[in-house]
Amino acid sequence: MDLRKMTALEIGALLRKREMSSPEVTKIFLDAATTDLTGAYISLDEDGALRAAANAQERIDTAARDGSEEELSLLTGVPVAVKDNICIEGGVTTAGSKMLRNFAPPYSATVVDRLHRAGAVILGKTNLDEFAMGGSTETSHFGPTKNPWDTSRVPGGSSGGSAAAVAGGLAPYAIGSDTGGSIRQPSAFCGLTGIKPTYGSVSRFGLMAYASSLDQIGPLGLDAKDCAAALSIISGPDEKDSTSNISAPFSFSNILDSQISEEERTKKLKTIKIGVPTNYFKEGIAEDVKKTTLAAIEKMKTFGATIEEFDLPLMDYAVPAYYIIAGAEASSNLSRYDGVKYGYRSKNAQDIRESYFLSRSEGFGTEVKRRIMLGTFVLSSGYFDAYYMKALRVRRLIKEAFDAAVGKYDVVLGPVSPTTAYEIGGQIEDPLAMYMADVYTVSANLTGLPALSMPCGMGENNLPIGIQLIGKAFSEEKLLEIADAWQTATDYHKCRAFESVLLQK
Ligand code: GLN
Repeated sequence: MDLRKMTALEIGALLRKREMSSPEVTKIFLDAATTDLTGAYISLDEDGALRAAANAQERIDTAARDGSEEELSLLTGVPVAVKDNICIEGGVTTAGSKMLRNFAPPYSATVVDRLHRAGAVILGKTNLDEFAMGGSTETSHFGPTKNPWDTSRVPGGSSGGSAAAVAGGLAPYAIGSDTGGSIRQPSAFCGLTGIKPTYGSVSRFGLMAYASSLDQIGPLGLDAKDCAAALSIISGPDEKDSTSNISAPFSFSNILDSQISEEERTKKLKTIKIGVPTNYFKEGIAEDVKKTTLAAIEKMKTFGATIEEFDLPLMDYAVPAYYIIAGAEASSNLSRYDGVKYGYRSKNAQDIRESYFLSRSEGFGTEVKRRIMLGTFVLSSGYFDAYYMKALRVRRLIKEAFDAAVGKYDVVLGPVSPTTAYEIGGQIEDPLAMYMADVYTVSANLTGLPALSMPCGMGENNLPIGIQLIGKAFSEEKLLEIADAWQTATDYHKCRAFESVLLQK
């Protein structure tokens, strides 16, 4: 039995049967993480994790004694990794930035409280692009994370540490955040399943804000069932987040009930109608991604899904609108890092003005500064109407186009990223190329719709490829049901990078 290849739910079941204890399981993942070569984690919390594991074990033992196992969550005692822009009290939360390298938040994020309540064991904090700005996890102050499938390549980003941790067998599942694709794209690059929930279904309280109207927290896992289990724990209303917009946590009973047969699961594909935007495949997409995605669509057909092609308007405007809005919100959100209240303060300043200037100049990296400058520019009085207001109008039009599409189809299906994982250093000098790579993912954030990435095959160089499903607001259950049906019928998600990590050792 190799725990590091098992899904989070499989490990949870093992723990409830008391075939292993939570501290034993936790130790295995901590040991693996300590010798990690991919740089998935920024920090490990060995003491905290072992304490949480002992507590979880007590809950499991008590439940077994009292016959009250149903009170345990499916993931009680199971380790998890958390992206380092999500606050955990008692440790350091850095957002991958020099600005916050010693920042100890005085409270935990709501998702962290919910994980604790469910008996999850948090192993540590995973690497990310600085303040989640990027698509490769190369802009972190703590250095890049490597892709477990091929350590010369990026894991995607910005939740690249979370993705590398799961794909490399260093955590059974992980929590990330997605402002323009940061859960889905690293999931695709690392052969995982990841979901960006509907805006408002998971609390953002305690998530370090990048672009507040786009940010969402969500899970990355080895399959759709693990994502469902994690999302059922972290979703739900929260009075600490005024944009929380859901009356109860998702239950996902149609996915998580282990009594449901494989036949019944795959049957779901026969009843769904999938819309495929033809313009997604016209230009800028690598041949292997295109071929594999189209083959997956054909396969969906053979499983009985109804596929219809359609033209999704305004695709060319999604990336420009996203980078204007995200930059504008980032420039405002990041103004709080002034060297006075939080984080890094330059020692070279002579007066307060210089202190602001030098603290921000020295504390932020190049990409963050680029976004702040872009955002400040589009919000400045002379350009506000020309850029920011126009981008908001375009956002509204994109939302109308997507609402029409998800009104007509159960899901919109397309690629996640135009390429597979690229070489470290390959794109970092070309920000525009990096931004254009977000073309398939940003619309789900602009519209607030839920979107999922799941494996659909391998491309050149033996690198995983993902497909994306976008659904109606709050249709997470349907998205995960479709993904679960697909994964019951196929084996793409079962390829593990894990072996290749060992080979490279
Ligand atoms: N790559 C996108 C950006 O740089 C998305 C980042 C994210 O989702 N956090 O803004």
